[in-house]
Amino acid sequence: MKQDPDMVKIQNNMQPGSLSAEGFLGDDDRNLTDIINEDDQIVKRHGSSHQEIASRLREMTGAAAAGLGRPVNFGDDFIVSSEDHRGRIPCPFRDRFYADKRNTIAENRRTGKRLLWTDLNIHMIEVHGFYEGRGSSFRLEPAELVDFLFPESRRF
Ligand SMILES: [Zn+2]
Repeated sequence: MKQDPDMVKIQNNMQPGSLSAEGFLGDDDRNLTDIINEDDQIVKRHGSSHQEIASRLREMTGAAAAGLGRPVNFGDDFIVSSEDHRGRIPCPFRDRFYADKRNTIAENRRTGKRLLWTDLNIHMIEVHGFYEGRGSSFRLEPAELVDFLFPESRRF
């Protein structure tokens, strides 16, 4: 899909260097609009929404932060912990939002599977439906993310 000029500007912001050394797009060769649209379809097919995903990530982030660097239990399924790096990073969508530089790590106790996300990931998912480009270190694959976050409702 052809992008409007605002999205072209935002996509340029997401290249390595300007806001983050690595950028947000990895080696994805799709344009930003296509990345967002395709991930939106995947989330819907998995019966979830960006808001539901973001609010779950935020709950886990809050629980992890309360552990002050120590791993804590989250529900029956997870152990969560957080790493605070001080400082803030602006959202590349140019909406004047700044996220704390914090990583949250969650591990599923049964499967041992772990995922890591940042506060900026949560904002970009919730407000922009953006999970980063393929090949980016902080890309969250939507299908994998939904299965990971909601193991109790999606065991099949
Ligand atoms: Zn934003």
